[in-house]
Amino acid sequence: MKIGFIGLGNMGGPMAANLAKAGHEVTGFDMADVAIDGVAMAPSGAEAAKGADVVITMLPNGAILRAVAADIIPAMTAGAALVDCSTVDVESARAVADQAAAAGLLSVDAPVSGGIGGAAGGTLTFMAGGSTDAFAKADPLFDIMGQKAVHCGEAGAGQAAKICNNMILGATMIATCEAFALADKLGLSRDKMFDVVSTSSGYSWTMNAYCPAPGVGPQSPADNNYQPGFAADLMLKDLRLSQQAAEAVDADTPMGQKARDLYAQFVENEDGAGMDFSAMLPRFEKRGRD
Ligand code: NAD
Repeated sequence: MKIGFIGLGNMGGPMAANLAKAGHEVTGFDMADVAIDGVAMAPSGAEAAKGADVVITMLPNGAILRAVAADIIPAMTAGAALVDCSTVDVESARAVADQAAAAGLLSVDAPVSGGIGGAAGGTLTFMAGGSTDAFAKADPLFDIMGQKAVHCGEAGAGQAAKICNNMILGATMIATCEAFALADKLGLSRDKMFDVVSTSSGYSWTMNAYCPAPGVGPQSPADNNYQPGFAADLMLKDLRLSQQAAEAVDADTPMGQKARDLYAQFVENEDGAGMDFSAMLPRFEKRGRD
């Protein structure tokens, strides 16, 4: 396939490289001066999109996605597919899908889980929203860039799945970290805490697979001085998107709201910026009750 790829940062760069390695003809564009193995660089987003069967975007946020979409949609050929893999607000995803449909294009919102390691290794999970035809067109590319793609529903459903998953993840990480800090103060060893909880009803992905306590459970960013991993800043971004969505549809999400507030405090007023999101544990460790 002829593929345009716009946004070749930490995630987009390796994803584009994997598509090129699989034999696709990939033309890329990024505002920054980047070079990606096997990817020809175009002078603009519109040039990268021209004549492509599929254009993939991997951008920082919804405002940038909207601007890029306005630029590239007129350059795309009717019947081609616009596949946005960025994490953005549901409203922007749906607005871009409407514009694409008006121009006779297929579109999919397909945010990912799996981080930079998943992007490099081609093991991402895609959560996709769009028509069946649009998903079918993008699916062979998801196969190359990832290990699993779930067609979640119509436009916006991929972003909805992503922010709901990450709202659970953020709140669960906080609960796991505060429980470890309480256990410390109660004189319970972290090894015993892990042993019990990881096989009891308090188990979770954050405890069992990504344990925030160093030296306990499987290897995780806690064992690497809390270098990300999944940065607290990115968790904050996703928690804000989940609250923006909850406000838009009048959903009561008190745990998600609290998780957003705690990550905002951690990233903006404490020392959480640039740390893994599991660094909430040392944060709680240092604190007493307010
Ligand atoms: P990044 O900042 O490394 O990459 C974004 C790229 O977009 C940059 O290279 C930037 O120069 C480029 N860009 C910005 N504006 C542009 C424009 N107008 N035209 C062309 N290029 C433009 O970010 P990333 O870590 O690659 O994340 C990309 C997306 O993936 C985000 O939405 C993020 O939330 C999501 N995501 C990231 C991770 C992760 O672990 N990094 C995990 C899951 C999802």
